[in-house]
Amino acid sequence: MSDTLIIGGGVMGMMMALAAGRWPCQTVTLLERGQCGREASWAGGGIVSPLYPWRYSSADLVACHAGQKANTPGLPRRLKEATGIDPEYRQKGLIYLRVEDEALALDWAHTQHKPLEVIGREALYAREPYLAAGHQQALWMPTLGSIRNPRLGQALRARLLAHVRVEVREGCEVQELMIGADHHVTGARLVDETVSADSVVVCGGAWSGRLLAAAGVLLPVRPVKGQMMVFNPVAAGLCSVDEPLLSRVVLCDGRYVIPRADGRILIGSTLEHQDFDKSTTAQARESLHASAASILPALGELEPEHHWAGLRPGTPDGTPFIGAVPGLHGLYVNAGHYRNGLVLAPAATRLLSDLLLGRESFMSAHAFTPPGVEIATALAS
Ligand SMILES: Cc1cc2nc3c(=O)[nH]c(=O)nc-3n(C[C@H](O)[C@H](O)[C@H](O)COP(=O)(O)OP(=O)(O)OC[C@H]3O[C@@H](n4cnc5c(N)ncnc54)[C@H](O)[C@@H]3O)c2cc1C
Repeated sequence: MSDTLIIGGGVMGMMMALAAGRWPCQTVTLLERGQCGREASWAGGGIVSPLYPWRYSSADLVACHAGQKANTPGLPRRLKEATGIDPEYRQKGLIYLRVEDEALALDWAHTQHKPLEVIGREALYAREPYLAAGHQQALWMPTLGSIRNPRLGQALRARLLAHVRVEVREGCEVQELMIGADHHVTGARLVDETVSADSVVVCGGAWSGRLLAAAGVLLPVRPVKGQMMVFNPVAAGLCSVDEPLLSRVVLCDGRYVIPRADGRILIGSTLEHQDFDKSTTAQARESLHASAASILPALGELEPEHHWAGLRPGTPDGTPFIGAVPGLHGLYVNAGHYRNGLVLAPAATRLLSDLLLGRESFMSAHAFTPPGVEIATALAS
């Protein structure tokens, strides 16, 4: 019998398991269909901020802000100390090119006390000399950081595998949730066994809706495919690790380039509302390559080193679901973080932990309450 069962080993499930491992008198089991940290949490870009934060709702932003504070630099540093795996958090700032709602952005920054300023041509090219010519100004956010998310996943996984109170079971796909006669969720059914628990937390990323639908809860979480590519200009002899082609995240027309510590550069990403399809396409490759070259012309000549796709857990308005499922006792959700799962993970974990333990939290979870009340209530009546 596990006190707490967590389904899904992405960044959300792994952070949840780490948190639950600290609760008093708990045994914690994490069930992951494949290997932990290999889905959206691996595929993402690792920017520790919403792309255009001034376009988000206030509840999302409070959570993101709390996530940013918790993420950085404490969590990556502690993980590195504990596991030897460095998630490579780097706070190098972000440059916004061609922002159509600049006035709104500056207004937001002013009211939120965020450092965001307009910089002129000289300051821009002094920071990033290899950017395409012709930009007269940019917005500059010096506090933004990025993390190498595949390594964050590896570090979280290593930390959990060594944890005395958390059992990580990979290669275990949950077929359905088990619901007792009193409408209390009692665990999960795998292919050839059942795992019992007092409480179950669904952290299934883009697959969360599918998992909950079988229990009669209509959680509107849908996959939104994102394709990305990485270039290796160091290997191509275009630059060195010490003098890279790019040092800061640059965002232009909704696409971004992200530098890694070893000189690699990521370009992302597409937004494709399809089913559970993770294939890459020639069309996206061409479009991403064109975007990369339009930001950093040197990348136009370079073949990408790797091209991949991941499935973001999308929701109707981008707001995640964090909380108890009304009508089904013992069932909780932490899913649907769409484009901001890496930013939100620490705050979402904290919020749900506080709810589960009946503690007062740093913000209200009201805006994130999972739906499905009617259906769950119908089951219960
Ligand atoms: C291209 C791209 C770029 C992104 N860039 C950023 C960014 O820069 N910054 C940012 O903050 N966010 C970014 N994101 C979003 C972020 O990656 C996601 O929001 C986050 O990873 C979601 O984490 P998760 O744990 O909920 O989902 P996932 O990482 O997808 O994990 C869900 C896990 O549940 C498992 N699972 C599902 N069903 C079952 C089942 N029945 N039984 C057992 N296990 C199951 C899956 O195998 C998977 O491992 C990006 C995403 C993509 C795709």
